[in-house]
Amino acid sequence: MLDLFSIFSKGGIVLWCFQSTSEIFSPSVNALIRNVILQERSGNNSYNHDALTLQYKLDNEFELVFVVAYQKILQLSYVDKFLNDIHLEFRDKYKNDLQSGRFITDFDFKTSFDNILKQCETWAKSQAKIPKQMRTFEDSQKSKKTVASMIERKGDEKNKKSVKIVENKIANGKIEESPELEDDVIAANRAKLAQKLASKVKKEVKKSPKSPKAVDRTKKPRVWELGGDSRDLPTLDFSTDKEGDAEVSADTQLVGQMTGAIRDLEVESDDDSSSEEEEEQPEGKPAPKKSGGMFSIFKGLVGSKALTEEQMRPVLDKMRDHLIGKNVAADIANKLCDSVATKLEGKVLGTFESVATTVKATLTSSLMQILSPKRRVDILRDCLHARQQGRPYVMSFCGVNGVGKSTNLAKICFWLIENDLSVLIAACDTFRAGAVEQLRTHTRRLDALHPPHAHHGRRMVHLYEKGYGKDAAGIAMEAIRYAADSKIDVVLIDTAGRMQDNEPLMRALAKLIKVNEPDLVLFVGEALVGNEAVDQLVKFNQALADHSSSSNPHVIDGIVLTKFDTIDDKVGAAISMTYITGQPIVFVGTGQTYTDLKALNANAVVHALMK
Ligand code: GDP
Repeated sequence: MLDLFSIFSKGGIVLWCFQSTSEIFSPSVNALIRNVILQERSGNNSYNHDALTLQYKLDNEFELVFVVAYQKILQLSYVDKFLNDIHLEFRDKYKNDLQSGRFITDFDFKTSFDNILKQCETWAKSQAKIPKQMRTFEDSQKSKKTVASMIERKGDEKNKKSVKIVENKIANGKIEESPELEDDVIAANRAKLAQKLASKVKKEVKKSPKSPKAVDRTKKPRVWELGGDSRDLPTLDFSTDKEGDAEVSADTQLVGQMTGAIRDLEVESDDDSSSEEEEEQPEGKPAPKKSGGMFSIFKGLVGSKALTEEQMRPVLDKMRDHLIGKNVAADIANKLCDSVATKLEGKVLGTFESVATTVKATLTSSLMQILSPKRRVDILRDCLHARQQGRPYVMSFCGVNGVGKSTNLAKICFWLIENDLSVLIAACDTFRAGAVEQLRTHTRRLDALHPPHAHHGRRMVHLYEKGYGKDAAGIAMEAIRYAADSKIDVVLIDTAGRMQDNEPLMRALAKLIKVNEPDLVLFVGEALVGNEAVDQLVKFNQALADHSSSSNPHVIDGIVLTKFDTIDDKVGAAISMTYITGQPIVFVGTGQTYTDLKALNANAVVHALMK
């Protein structure tokens, strides 16, 4: 039973509203607007406030929000369908009014509302009666999680809507890979991250009187100050006092750790892998070292006869499921299974070790192919080349809010300085409160780590800022000019976070890139949100192409995948990102210190996949 349904414009005008109780809902709706819609949080379309669940749908064309509120304890399976249907009905019915921009507030919508609600309730009841059946892989949601399915093409709006409804139906029959479930995974990941941060803070800030707070999905304008609840970058938290030498020296252990090319992600040891097959190894035969969970699948293939396709089929099916369980898109999983099948067919694999070695080698070489980018990005070399040409090397960072743009920009800045390149950070997020201050704090910290006296009197990091509310493209342009005049080697442009579907903001980003022609456009995505990050990447890429009004648009050149330390082994999204765009994952963020920046290599990915 719905407590509230409301349609309002993003500007706050309520166009139509239904309320089944006399309760006052404005605090909950305001919280939704403030904490989710204005923050442009991605992923989930539901939000809990007090005893209520609020679910919403955005109409980006007319800038409308459709919100439903109901008691949290209720599980209403039809709300997604209801929001979809009512959205379509409202648009169809009042298209002309909406197009003309006349936001009248006396829409005669009650009959439509009642009808759609009734239909959805009946639909939900009928769905509940359908007996649950085992589905084949082809029928399942997993098989539909292909790379192509992650790409939304323009003009596909209608198809998308019907697909969404089908998805919901299936979700009702059996809970699997539904959008809700994916959001649950994101929420669980965030909870894990919060726990991780909490334990870190406990260890490092023993005296901290506050206990870590529960997961909060909202992005707060953060002030990077010390003393308070400084959960962010705990190891970087030295005094904002410029001359705080005692504290600065505590951090100088970081200095010198990032010289040269970015190091590869380390492959952890397999101490924790307690797979059965290891126990069953014949005496005297060492168990394959890297034999985590997936290898037990291949146990049955050990034998003295040449392997046939029939023998391998059930094993490969299990392997495919295992890979999909790690977030690998179905078509990539199929590809990997095919490559393993080709390598194994006709072979006599007498020991488990030989099976394991063959599978691992095959997967590594296949992933190597997938992860090998269309072109190599060698930033240090290109920076030196630009310096020889007497111009700064320019990188711009884009992505949605809160993914770690500024933090990882600062890490990259640290790495560049460690390699004797001077950097100008251009504060072009002129929108989010606190964004400029955050960069100022980083600049100060980086300057303290690499003071001019350690670099022959050269100041290694500068900040170019013009406050808030100004045109970001213009500031970036001035910054590049300033860097060229001051012989600064690299310009790092921080841009405002924006949602991939927000057309005006994507247009502004395309403009910034078009007029400033950076050498490298990096998309920052968080590994934490899995395939949502793939969707963001695809849409950013598409939007840059669509809005650049150029026949040869500058799209995304590379990816920074952040919060990799929080995902355990679900690395599938990383593979899909490179597979889809052909662009490399240039950096992987693995934590919250300046040295937590790594490169992705196929070995680390294979290791995580086989766990
Ligand atoms: P922005 O809005 O995209 O600029 O995001 P921020 O740079 O402000 O980062 C948002 C949060 O993510 C901060 O708390 C960061 O400390 C955290 N963060 C960024 N990168 C990483 C990472 O690689 N690992 C972890 N665990 N946290 C990160």
